[in-house]
Amino acid sequence: MGALPVFRWRLAPDGYATRRQLRARGLRPGGQEVAAQLKRSRRRREPLVAYLYMVDLAKPVRPMTPARWAALAKANSARRTCPACRRDAGYVIPASLGMCVPCAYPDPDLSAPGSTGTETP
Ligand SMILES: [Zn+2]
Repeated sequence: MGALPVFRWRLAPDGYATRRQLRARGLRPGGQEVAAQLKRSRRRREPLVAYLYMVDLAKPVRPMTPARWAALAKANSARRTCPACRRDAGYVIPASLGMCVPCAYPDPDLSAPGSTGTETP
């Protein structure tokens, strides 16, 4: 940490920003190391320290690349695919059932006659 440049409060050069300032621009540090520190002396208290990152190395908050979209779609479709009938249920398979609703409850009209409580006039 000793090699970090330390700037006085409000005197940070251009190209540096705190995490909060990056966030305001829709950026995030993106895995980079802290590039510098801001230090603000306070009377009889610990100095206030802020960590600065290089704006040039910052990355967009949500970089959704085509590959990431594809991976996400694949993961979602896998969660929607019923392991019993191999069909896309159109919704995420409930973990409690482990399969799509028609597979979990085949033909409810036959298995539970008259138990629905609905009456047709
Ligand atoms: Zn199914």
